[in-house]
Amino acid sequence: LYVEPDLVAGGQVALGKEQSLYLAAVLRKSVGDEVVLFNGRDGAWLARLVSDAKKSVVLALVERIAVQTPASDLWYGFAPLKTERLDYVIQKAVEMGAGTIQPVLTRFTQVSRLKHERLVANAIEAAEQCEVLSVPRVEPEVTLERLLDGWPAERVLVFADEGEASSSPVAALEGLKGRQVGLLIGPEGGFSDEERARLRALPFVVPVSLGPRILRADTAAVAALAVIQATIGDWR
Ligand code: SAM
Repeated sequence: LYVEPDLVAGGQVALGKEQSLYLAAVLRKSVGDEVVLFNGRDGAWLARLVSDAKKSVVLALVERIAVQTPASDLWYGFAPLKTERLDYVIQKAVEMGAGTIQPVLTRFTQVSRLKHERLVANAIEAAEQCEVLSVPRVEPEVTLERLLDGWPAERVLVFADEGEASSSPVAALEGLKGRQVGLLIGPEGGFSDEERARLRALPFVVPVSLGPRILRADTAAVAALAVIQATIGDWR
């Protein structure tokens, strides 16, 4: 369970109403039961319920059971999609190991106003589910232009481009081992010709094909993250 407070030996954590209800009423946890807590900074902690009041559960920290893992360096930028698909891409990006999630507004992006708290809540829920101890950062939306103007030259930007000659991206990605990497996926309507031309002309951009079919933007995100993880990911 993700919580905000610091997690330290001998400490206690009082949950808010929503999480208290979830533990006490949905999971039916009662005094003495154990729960694992994390806050994105202090590793994972075993905690025991000392109050199971439905609106104010209190947990006593027992012991740290895992050290904090470093945040993933993988940057993932995508043009926001409509609500359901947006929830999906945030969830999948966390599961697939993105460390920073950046909504990018492009010419054909159909959604421009995002509920940032909703995206953050989705990222936290996904981190809980897949036991990522450092919750990925969800950045406020930025236009493609501003993003590219401020892009750090040392980071490679893998651009999923359905117009790229359809050959396997594996060789291109393997050449990026050890580099800082970002991934950019376009909106439902794709990138405009001007955006594609600008992206392809930039020295830090590596265009890749995900095969000869046009994938939905959400599918493209999962496919590209899987190929990136399989080629230059953090398997040991
Ligand atoms: N209209 C569909 C939708 O609603 O999602 C497909 C949109 S597709 C143009 C969206 C983005 O997915 C593209 O801008 C590109 O980044 C990525 N994409 C889709 N198919 C791809 C492929 N075969 N190779 C590389 N990137 C692809």
